[in-house]
Amino acid sequence: MKHRHSALACGLIALSALVHATQAAPVSPVTVKTFGRTAEGRKVEIYTLINKKGMKVRVMTRGATVVDLYTPDRNGKLADIVLGFSSLDSYGPTVPYFGAVVGRYANRIANGKFMLEGKTYQLAKNNGPNALHGGLKGFDKQIWKSEVLKTAEPSVRFALRSPDGQEGYPGTLDVAVTYTLTDQNELRLSYLATTDKPTVLNVTNHSYFNLAGAGNGTILDQQLKLNAGQFTPVNATLIPTGEIKSVAGTVMDFRKSTPIGMRIKQVGGKPIGYDHNYVLARCPFVHMTTAAVAHDPKSGRTMTVFTDQPGIQFYSGNFLDGTITGRGGKVYNQYSGFCLETQHFPDSPNEPTFPSTELKPGRTYKTTTVYKFSAN
Ligand code: BGC
Repeated sequence: MKHRHSALACGLIALSALVHATQAAPVSPVTVKTFGRTAEGRKVEIYTLINKKGMKVRVMTRGATVVDLYTPDRNGKLADIVLGFSSLDSYGPTVPYFGAVVGRYANRIANGKFMLEGKTYQLAKNNGPNALHGGLKGFDKQIWKSEVLKTAEPSVRFALRSPDGQEGYPGTLDVAVTYTLTDQNELRLSYLATTDKPTVLNVTNHSYFNLAGAGNGTILDQQLKLNAGQFTPVNATLIPTGEIKSVAGTVMDFRKSTPIGMRIKQVGGKPIGYDHNYVLARCPFVHMTTAAVAHDPKSGRTMTVFTDQPGIQFYSGNFLDGTITGRGGKVYNQYSGFCLETQHFPDSPNEPTFPSTELKPGRTYKTTTVYKFSAN
C-alpha cells in the first residue's frame, strides 16, 4: 500500500507539470477529423480524446481502433506507447490487428467450426486450419458508427451491426464499444452487445503496447505481473488442449513481476514466445479484477489492466518480423510490442468445460476493461 501511495504522489507531481504545460493553450476534450478513405471510398474518422492531465488517445472508426496513445513517463514526458501508423492506407489487410477491436470471436476457433443448439457453423479458416479474430472481414476491418458522448470525461461510442451469417456466425449482432479517457489516466473500454438468435461472442482490443514508446526497441526488459495461477496450454496450431494447467514451476509463471524476456527462449513455440491465455484469479463478489501490471523500468511507465473477463491473452509480439514500418519510420521487429487481450478462453465454443461464450436473444453482453497508466 505504501508503495502505491508514493507512486500516486509521483504521478501527481508529473501531472501538475503537464497541466501547466497545457494551460496556455486549452484543448477540447474530444475532436474529430477525417483520417482517410477506404479503397471503396468510405470515409474513416479519427477522434482525439484528451483528459485534464494531458493524456491523449486517438481512435478511428475503422475497427474502433486505437491509433495512438500518449502517456507520461516519470518526468511527465508524453510518448506514444502503442504500435500503429499515421495514415489509414497503412492499415492494410495483413497488419496484425494493431489497436483494433476484434470479434465476433477474438482468438481462435479450432478448424473454424463449432456447434450451437444442435447446428454446425463453419467459419473461414484464416489462420492455418483455424479461424482467428472474427474471420476474413472481422470487426477490425469494418467501419463503425460513432458518436461523442456528453459526459464529464472525454468519451466516444462506436457501434456496429453485424448481420446474421456474417463471417459464418449466426444472428444479427448489435455491438458497441465506448472508449472513455478518465482524469485518473485510465482508458476504459465498455462493450455491449445483443443478438436476435443464439450466437457466440468474445470481443477484445488488440493494442500492442511498448511502454518505452512504440518503435523504441523490444519489450523484453519490461516487466509483467499476471494475476493468474493457471493457463490454458495449446497445441501446435495454438488451440487449447482443454487442460487448465498450473503455472507453478514453469516459465509461464508471472505471479511475481518478471522481465518478459527472462525465460522467453524456454517457452518454445514457432515463433518462440508467449501466446497464451491465462485464467484470471477471481475474488468472490469482486466484479473487476486486477488482471495484469506491466512496467518499464527505464521510463517508469506502468500499465495496470482491470477486467471482468475470465481470461487474458498474453502475446509477446512473436509474429512481428521487421516487415512492418510504423509511425515515424520505426520498424516493428519481433517483440516490439506486447498485447494483453482481456477475453473468454480461445476455442470456448468447442470446450464445454470453459466458461460459456454463448449469447442468447434477450440477454445483453456487457463487459469492461480498464487500462490505467501511471509512472514511478
Ligand atoms: C494471437 C496471436 C496472433 C496475434 C495477431 C493474438 O491475439 O494470440 O497468435 O498472431 O493475435 O494476429
